Amino acid sequence: PPAVSERPTRIAVDLDHLAFNLRSIRAHVGVPVMGIVKANAYGHGLVPVARHLQAQGVEQLGVAFVEEGIALRQAGVTTPVLVLGGIFGRQVAQFIAHDLEITVSSPDKLRQVEAAAQAMGRKAVIHLKIDTGMERIGVHSYSSKAFIEAAVASQWCALKGIYSHLACSDDPHSSMTAQQVERFLEACSHIERIGAPMPLRHLANSGGVLHFPDTWLDMVRPGIMLYGVQPDPASLRTVDLKPVMSLASQVVYFKVVKEGHPVSYGATWAPERDTRVVTIPIGYGDGYPRALSSRGEVLIRGHRYPIVGRVCMDQFMVDIGQDSAWNEDEVMLIGSQGDEALTVEVLAQRAGVIPYEILVGLNDRIPREYR
Ligand code: PLP
Repeated sequence: PPAVSERPTRIAVDLDHLAFNLRSIRAHVGVPVMGIVKANAYGHGLVPVARHLQAQGVEQLGVAFVEEGIALRQAGVTTPVLVLGGIFGRQVAQFIAHDLEITVSSPDKLRQVEAAAQAMGRKAVIHLKIDTGMERIGVHSYSSKAFIEAAVASQWCALKGIYSHLACSDDPHSSMTAQQVERFLEACSHIERIGAPMPLRHLANSGGVLHFPDTWLDMVRPGIMLYGVQPDPASLRTVDLKPVMSLASQVVYFKVVKEGHPVSYGATWAPERDTRVVTIPIGYGDGYPRALSSRGEVLIRGHRYPIVGRVCMDQFMVDIGQDSAWNEDEVMLIGSQGDEALTVEVLAQRAGVIPYEILVGLNDRIPREYR
């Protein structure tokens, strides 16, 4: 039989909450949704998340790399998949062979796609990438006319979409988003001007969905909010979301540390009086941030306790003061216990990173359970 991990540290993925978030987003925007599942579905598990979104009728999925798209196809996912990242010469045939939609971000890449499609005798489905202010990939909106005309005229490309990416939408007060919308719509209007049918126009990431109705257009591309997490502490809670991931471990060691005796690497922390310290078997080798050394908190028996000393590769220590805890007691690192909760957003703030980094950082050493 396959080995079953007995590791007490686990990620639980609540698929009902994922479905709830998709429904909430849909009700809010009233247009089709491209569920973004790149980077292992933001750490939640690419295939199980994509399968569940497909079962909930998501219109489209988005990944970053062709390899992620192929993994979806090999797992039997049939929903249309757009690969958001750029393409690299020899990969074009793989996109077409696996029925993956291609982001075309330059005239040169358009020619590469056309050549590969013609060689295979099979049309490529493409979305044009327009740069409206991110300066990452895409043709600048102010010089996109010839690019758009070439794509419209292409014999070997079916133009399904046109899109751009927002740089500042997590900030509800930024004026950058309105500027990007204007530039994007101006680029799209050229399609109308030349009398071609308008492909799907999509622009909104989670920040766009939460803050800027003008960005919703024909489809939205939420990532982090699908997982019940806000893109930024300043983001507004305009959509009702439930956290999909929780991360729990167990107490595996208990000891009394004497006053003045330092704990963990570098001897950076020592108790001011004798105290009880427990050890938790997870560390930065799992993607739990080392930046939470003496800054993070966990929940044990419904109480909050501080992480003390440095987070090690596979373990860290927690000061429970004069309270009691026993080996195998549940330790909640992300999620709720009793009346207390620890969110990804707060963890990220304490670690000095963005919530995205926490989620995608939790790696495959931690088993995932789906509920
Ligand atoms: N669209 C594109 C092109 C992206 O690169 C991303 C992620 O960075 C998203 C949508 C989803 O973004 P978010 O997770 O902020 O919703």
